[in-house]
Amino acid sequence: MSDGPSPGVGDGSPTTESHVIDITESRPGRVGALPVRRALPRRGRRLVGAWCFIDHMGPAPIEPPRGLDIAPHPHTGLQTLTWLVEGEALHRDSLGTQQPIRPGELNLMTAGRGVAHSEEGTANYRGELHGAQLWIAQPSATRDGPPAFEHHATLPQVDLVGAVATVLVGRLGDAVSPARHDTDHVGVDLSLHGGDTTLALRDDVEYALIVLSGAARVDDHVVEPGHLAYLGLGRDEIRLTSRERSRALLVGGVPFEEPVMMWWNYVARTRQEILDAHQSWMTDDGRFGRVDSTLARIEVPPPPWAG
Ligand code: MN
Repeated sequence: MSDGPSPGVGDGSPTTESHVIDITESRPGRVGALPVRRALPRRGRRLVGAWCFIDHMGPAPIEPPRGLDIAPHPHTGLQTLTWLVEGEALHRDSLGTQQPIRPGELNLMTAGRGVAHSEEGTANYRGELHGAQLWIAQPSATRDGPPAFEHHATLPQVDLVGAVATVLVGRLGDAVSPARHDTDHVGVDLSLHGGDTTLALRDDVEYALIVLSGAARVDDHVVEPGHLAYLGLGRDEIRLTSRERSRALLVGGVPFEEPVMMWWNYVARTRQEILDAHQSWMTDDGRFGRVDSTLARIEVPPPPWAG
């Protein structure tokens, strides 16, 4: 659901420094009907584990007939993970899926060699829309495989001192998400009550935190909406302090060793793969299938390196 060509060629090399905290400003943008803050990728920060894209969407008011209003567009080589804290949206894809999503539920679409989808309003929701969409790069073992979609209406939760953690993907302690994961990564929603919270981490996993509402202090840095706090490798725990009720997402993963190239909505390895995918989308040759949507498919010019 990138809103346009966002050239960026990642070298995929992880920062291996330990106990860093590196706070970068998100880039403001607009996707469909919503303002977004793009926390990843940013200059100098392409990946956190296999996580390669993080958009914090809203909060912004929605009035029918408008909704998310993200028209049909293609993806390759990645999973899209959609998570709402407020509002409703409707996912449609070229597999024939039509799946509403509400707060607390997870939509996870696997693109593999190609899928198309739209993200729309539910006919009658009026109010704030607030959430996040994240992408996870698929490894070579599955990135040329078939597309897939899964919806999880409930996810495991862990009661911590000062917070409730919801495990979107991967594992936190004994709590394991049922969501598909093709690499060793984790995504956790943290509902912070206000006060101190400590989470056990893995020292072989690099982590990053975004705050959706409120604020959280980590290592004497205050992380607010519009920041990505990269936490690096080598931590066996993290302590978060919040003065008010706050909401955050913690993502992490074992450093992704494959070179990743991203352009528009494609995650690939080479420019040629991206050219081939975009040619298929623009000529509608069947690779991406059709989305049953009243919105017109999104078409963008080819990448700058196309001949
Ligand atoms: Mn998308």
